[in-house]
Amino acid sequence: MKKCLQAVAASLALSCAVPAFADEAIKCSMCEEWNKPVAPFKVYGNTWYVGTAGLSALLVTGPQGHVLLDGALPQSAPLIRKNIEALGFRMEDIKLILNSHPHFDHAGAIAELQRASGATVVASPQAAQVLREGTPGTDDPQYDPKERFYIPKVAEVKEIADGKSVSVGPLRLTVHYTPGHTPGGTSWSWESCEQGKCASIVYADSLNPVSMDGFHYSGDATRPDLSASFRKSIARLAGLKCDVLVAAHPSFSDLFGKAAAKTADTNPFIDPEGCAKYAASASRSLEARLQRERDEKDRASPTAAR
Ligand SMILES: [Zn+2]
Repeated sequence: MKKCLQAVAASLALSCAVPAFADEAIKCSMCEEWNKPVAPFKVYGNTWYVGTAGLSALLVTGPQGHVLLDGALPQSAPLIRKNIEALGFRMEDIKLILNSHPHFDHAGAIAELQRASGATVVASPQAAQVLREGTPGTDDPQYDPKERFYIPKVAEVKEIADGKSVSVGPLRLTVHYTPGHTPGGTSWSWESCEQGKCASIVYADSLNPVSMDGFHYSGDATRPDLSASFRKSIARLAGLKCDVLVAAHPSFSDLFGKAAAKTADTNPFIDPEGCAKYAASASRSLEARLQRERDEKDRASPTAAR
């Protein structure tokens, strides 16, 4: 049995999920494509791409341990591990695991990667609850009471307040709450340096306004209006100091195109407009979505008035 979720635009196509049992790989229309292996590569300085073809995972390395951001699908765990080890790093040196948002395609392997590394998982309070329980709550726009997104439960999750930082030795990463796509979604920023030049890296959460049928970002009789907080998340991302953008889906920031275009003299990962452009695209999607919701309500109102 399968339930497909409609994305607002083809480029933002998300997923079709089925529930799975603890040791099963999750099946979805995009999962096979997303989970194709790719060789790991340096993004900038001590920031490395260790994810799969369609789902980002980043490793930020330091002398006293490393930080891993995101865990893709449950079945991505061996691919991420292989990529980390291919770069010459050890799983047991990962001290922290962070997450963009707690959906099966970004948090699916976190439990396994935590077991393999002994790392501490850190998330916003709302995301932490989802990671502990293994399914999104009823406040998730993609919540489906019949076919919940399944995430292998994460045993221990530490909560972090908005704007605070986590550290491993000299590494310091700051959380920016970006609710909208999920209530607990977060983006992260840090600094990486190479050849004496330091760059602000931003790992951007998904900002696409997809939902189950019947959910209204503009609110309705049963739910609050989320449009202001979603717009705030988008503006927040646009305002971050951002020399290098990596999005939760690598295609959203043309990561592989940039990797292919990298030469000894040019580094296309450096794009100070990256976050602003990403935010502008998200803003267009959200405003189009809100307009559709207004149109729907307008169409429904004559009937309601009778
Ligand atoms: Zn998602």
